[in-house]
Amino acid sequence: MSLKERFRANFAAAPDIIAAAPGRVEVIGNHTDYNLGPVIGAGIDRHVFVALRRIPEREFRFSSTVSDIATVQDASTPKSGSDSWVNYPLGVYNSLLRRGLASEGGFELAVESDVPSGAGLSSSAALELATAKAICAAFEMELSSWELAIASREAENEFVGVPCGILDQGVSAMGESGHLVHIDCRNMESSVIPLGRSYSIWIFNTHKKHSLVESLYSERHRECTEAVAQLNREGMDIACLADMTSERFERVRDSLDATLANRAAHVIGEIERVERVRTLLEQGNGDAVGKELFASHASSRNLFENSVEELDYLVDILESMPQVLGARLTGGGFGGAVMALTGESFTEIYADSVASAYRGRFGQSPGVLQCHTADGARIVEGAESSDTIESSLG
Ligand code: ADP
Ligand code: MG
Repeated sequence: MSLKERFRANFAAAPDIIAAAPGRVEVIGNHTDYNLGPVIGAGIDRHVFVALRRIPEREFRFSSTVSDIATVQDASTPKSGSDSWVNYPLGVYNSLLRRGLASEGGFELAVESDVPSGAGLSSSAALELATAKAICAAFEMELSSWELAIASREAENEFVGVPCGILDQGVSAMGESGHLVHIDCRNMESSVIPLGRSYSIWIFNTHKKHSLVESLYSERHRECTEAVAQLNREGMDIACLADMTSERFERVRDSLDATLANRAAHVIGEIERVERVRTLLEQGNGDAVGKELFASHASSRNLFENSVEELDYLVDILESMPQVLGARLTGGGFGGAVMALTGESFTEIYADSVASAYRGRFGQSPGVLQCHTADGARIVEGAESSDTIESSLG
């Protein structure tokens, strides 16, 4: 059943609006966000679709393929249990209310998606941004896409309770086909950089997750904070690692605790790699970007120690293939996925050979996904429809 058909079947009416928002890939910028550095991501051609109808009753009705229809009267309290997915759209609604959304009435919302959930492609941000676009259109509220990204992140941080940075929502909102999205996490600004449409991004998902992943993230976060404190004791006068250059850092590196020095070297080097990638792309030299991706992975592996054997194995195989421009772990690390940037000569046959080598070694196939860059969140049907997407909308 298409999204529209399910909407009609569940709510006995047609939706006013259908909005779409893409999943995203972190292209480079590993653990740079909370150190107030930049990060580069790509909106991808996998989308969450949200169909929505404004209703006069003070009620919120939700339909998805993951649970039964959920009806909510009190929009201000997060839900638990099998309906807890509604916290993403409800959180967005609350963030928009704080920004002046008309508070009368409610809505019916149905969701459909081809962004795999929990695979590191940020289905949650795509759900938030598609919801934000749909609500704004149905309630006639005007906010820029960037403001919707901020409102959606606030929803995920405060209503859902996940302390994510701005990458997920920023890229899902600001993506552009043929482009990557650069986000400056200090000034909270985004811009797009041309990539060219002949590149593909491949995801190899290990489906592995370190059992201590949450505490390992917090440990790295704390180590970065401690590195800043030690650097200040060495006379650096900085507020965050993004305030350092590698040149200044190398002069004092030996006076730091060895582990903290490695963590800081990774973040400072990664921030500089992000900016080099930006420059290379602006010069139209996409091929040279690959080297920076491999360097990013080596730094994660050796200095930040957030890689695992499975990710290293994938990157090593990909590095040996001439059709691959670059590859690295994507996301927080300690498991998860590797992304590879390739030209058109890297086809499914090559991806299959990577997957079967991995299976030979680890006894289990990785999830493999080919993506292209895509536009950010938008209305696909209804008021001010700006686009159509070939999909199962029907
Ligand atoms: P991801 O890396 O995919 O963002 P998260 O754990 O942050 O992983 O978000 C996944 C959650 O988002 C799911 O558990 C679910 O609550 C919600 N979600 C994602 N896609 C859908 C969907 N199609 N329908 C309902 N909820 C969804
Ligand atoms: Mg998420």
